[in-house]
Amino acid sequence: MNDLSTLTVHELQAGFRRGDFTPLEALESLENAISSRDPQIGAYLSRDFETARAAAASADILLPLGGVPIAIKDAINVQGEPCRCASKMLENFISPYDATVISKLRAAGAIPFGRLNMDEFAMGSSTENSAFQKTRNPWDTGRIPGGSSGGSAASVASRTAFASLGSDTGGSIRQPAALCGVVGLKPSYGRVSRYGLVAFASSLDQIGPLARTTRDCASLMNILAGKDSRDSTSLDLPAEDFTAALGRDLRGVKLGIPKEYFVDGMDTRVRSRVEAAIAHCESQGAELIEVSLPHTAYAVGVYYIIATAEASANLARFDGVRYGHRADHPRDLLDHYMRSREEGFGSEVKRRIILGTYVLSSGYYDAYYLRAQKVRTLIRRDFEQAFEKVDALVCPTSPDLAFRIGERTDDPLRMYLADIFTIATNLAGICGLSVPCGFVEENGRSLPVGMQFLGRALDETRLLGIADAYERSCGLDFARALPK
Ligand code: GLN
Repeated sequence: MNDLSTLTVHELQAGFRRGDFTPLEALESLENAISSRDPQIGAYLSRDFETARAAAASADILLPLGGVPIAIKDAINVQGEPCRCASKMLENFISPYDATVISKLRAAGAIPFGRLNMDEFAMGSSTENSAFQKTRNPWDTGRIPGGSSGGSAASVASRTAFASLGSDTGGSIRQPAALCGVVGLKPSYGRVSRYGLVAFASSLDQIGPLARTTRDCASLMNILAGKDSRDSTSLDLPAEDFTAALGRDLRGVKLGIPKEYFVDGMDTRVRSRVEAAIAHCESQGAELIEVSLPHTAYAVGVYYIIATAEASANLARFDGVRYGHRADHPRDLLDHYMRSREEGFGSEVKRRIILGTYVLSSGYYDAYYLRAQKVRTLIRRDFEQAFEKVDALVCPTSPDLAFRIGERTDDPLRMYLADIFTIATNLAGICGLSVPCGFVEENGRSLPVGMQFLGRALDETRLLGIADAYERSCGLDFARALPK
């Protein structure tokens, strides 16, 4: 049988419908791909082929995603499967229920399959904070895949998943998508239900798709989006067809270039690839307009106050009583709490809990948390003003190429700065998507560069249309430009 693992979701479905192959054969291709390639990549923490085979054997290919396996970040609950958030704290946790996105995928005929590695509790930018394993960048296995959804991006890039789900609190879908050369969309806040996503920072978290093409992300969004009575922050909007603007071109599209996103200190090769891609957009008829987002410089600081504050509250539930690892033979209750948390959490998670507890503590709340919320409003207004003049913004996704494993683990500040171009999107609640836009050759290896399109809140359909127009005209076949 042919190797089907290189197909896009769209091609897979067309093949099912033509009768070229069956969902079971597609799954078998994936199993073979995983057995041969995942040992070098480490994208999967676990996978249950038995259950997936049963689902594939009875899949209804006429459903919107009938028979399509979708790999899942370890932070999203799938009933009966481990959901460990790559943490020792949840080492033995088995999900008692499906997240809403998983129920929706199942109802659409898709097969949620496998658990993808991530930074512990989604805190990180390299997937090195996983308590269980490293994930390697398929383009150069000496490098990180990005994070925190590193497994979600590395699996799609290494053809061990057709598409995956990730979560994005400050860039965790877009940055790994950029560093692995795939497409990743962070939907607007409220677009997708977070019910069943283990919470990191509840005012920032969103679930979204990673895939090899913009079209595949749009098809997945048609299933993932929508109001959910179990998540009061999900918005009640009329059903939308996110594929509606695909197939257009860039003529007349107004693209804003935020000048604060082209700064000294970023990798000049990344910058030149992104600039060339923007020039390409202009050659295709887009109008380029320089805009300013003056509060950008504060985004990383604001994020690391708000995200850690929310994380410290959300992670209080992992105390060995309600959830999580329980220390042996505690002397008393306090010892029980302290040792359970000490043993269960890794060092980055502890750092965030301590930071978050500090910024919320009495006497410091006004100076840090409250002030950060005010600056968050200014950041949101920057975007609102820019969107008065343009349809979307275009900028780099990450200031750097994928870095070497171990290079930044001792320097948290440097790691945090890698999020500089992705974080403001979450603070503002708008949508953002990363697409591959070129490669840099280094030591005989090609390393992908990602470019970000950012759109108004709830403007995903237009954003996907713009990204798709870029993708089809840029001369880089996303679906085939995969590592050897
Ligand atoms: N890298 C950022 C952090 O460490 C973003 C993570 C995310 O989006 N989950 O917090």
